[in-house]
Amino acid sequence: MLVRSKELGGEGDFSPLPPSSMVFLILFRGANEPPGSPEMISRLRHSVFRSSLACGYVLALQTGLPAHEWHRPHDESGVLVASVGLSIPTDLGAGPENEAEVAERAEAFTPFFPKVRVRWDESWLYVECDGMPDHGLMAGITNWQQQVGIPQNYFGDNAWQIPLSPQLSDTPISTSDNLFRGAIALAVNGVPIFNALNNRGEDAFLIGELDNWGGHAGRADDYHYHAAPLHLQEVVGEAAPIAYALDGYPIYGLREPDGSEVVGLDESNGHFGPDYHYHASLSYPYINGGMRGVVTVAGGQIEPQPSTRGVRPATTPLRGAEIISYEAQGESGHSLVYTYNNQSYTLEWSTSEAASTATFARTDPAGAIDSNTYEGWVAPPDFAEHSLELHSQGGGRLRFSFRGEPGMAYPFATSTDFQGWQRFGFLQLGDDGEEIFDLAPSAATAFFRMGAPVSE
Ligand SMILES: [Zn+2]
Ligand SMILES: [Zn+2]
Repeated sequence: MLVRSKELGGEGDFSPLPPSSMVFLILFRGANEPPGSPEMISRLRHSVFRSSLACGYVLALQTGLPAHEWHRPHDESGVLVASVGLSIPTDLGAGPENEAEVAERAEAFTPFFPKVRVRWDESWLYVECDGMPDHGLMAGITNWQQQVGIPQNYFGDNAWQIPLSPQLSDTPISTSDNLFRGAIALAVNGVPIFNALNNRGEDAFLIGELDNWGGHAGRADDYHYHAAPLHLQEVVGEAAPIAYALDGYPIYGLREPDGSEVVGLDESNGHFGPDYHYHASLSYPYINGGMRGVVTVAGGQIEPQPSTRGVRPATTPLRGAEIISYEAQGESGHSLVYTYNNQSYTLEWSTSEAASTATFARTDPAGAIDSNTYEGWVAPPDFAEHSLELHSQGGGRLRFSFRGEPGMAYPFATSTDFQGWQRFGFLQLGDDGEEIFDLAPSAATAFFRMGAPVSE
């Protein structure tokens, strides 16, 4: 299923989409342009090619070459050439009825694709992730329960669910006296956001429970924020939401998407403009201060939402401890330094996919190490490799075949003039993990796809 609902860019605006995850790019020349024209090549060098060099690779197509030759990115002189005019069929797939709602929500999480990935049905956007941020964690906490962040299994049946058609409630729920359990929102980097008040009703930020990014870890060593992750605007920009509340309404930063001042917020930190949305604030409630939209609450917690899974016995508050620094170690390791009674301790922790374990090791000031390994940690599931194949169908037609994770949505953008991206959308693969369609000769099209990080 293809969702295409967003017009992008304009003349001369060939700025790339979020660059973290571009993988490949297929370029076709303009229909009226001779193959490899100097104008086209100079445009490519200055726009597409440059951006793709930073984070991906380019496939260029040349008329008359057999299919295997299409994978050659350059001719012998090293000059990028592209010389086939094709278009993506307009009737490709059928978007859902609420295509705009799907695309709006799916796009918000795209800068973190594929670490954070989405799929949808008629009612929900499902967000799959391990709940771990790309930034540091724990440093800055002065009121610590000795918990740390380990990857959670927010995948499959345990994915986050954002309503696609939010409904305003006649009886909004305030977070000042409710929703002390579980998350109330999901940041666009896949980190859950909890009530600004902790489960004892205290302002988690004011009492020093939060790290420099507004987060900390819960009883299951599940990392989450209690304050607005405004730092995500460095990644997504100030015009995009930093989170979605679990009632389906977006949460923006301290200003409106158009840069104007925020006025007239209700007690939930939200307002209409034109559609209902929430804002972050620098003082309580920091994030959405309630649920203006309809949600189901059971036992003080919004349902449905994923469950967390701890691996070790409950830890206790360490009064007076201060977390000084944090460092990521390798792929799944972490290390923090904290001071306690004027002495310095190190805590290292890591997870093992092969053994399904989590290990926590504390080094005391004398150098003695207390290490414990716990079984039962569930590693995030594998994400299918993706691949693109192009086959000539004769008559200039090209069969496009994309394989990836079954059911998952892959973001892409298209261009027909090499001047700007015109459309941005998602291709959601079926249960067979494949999408095949034919491109017919016609107006020029560039088709751009984002996938796994290119550094791999
Ligand atoms: Zn918490
Ligand atoms: Zn607003």
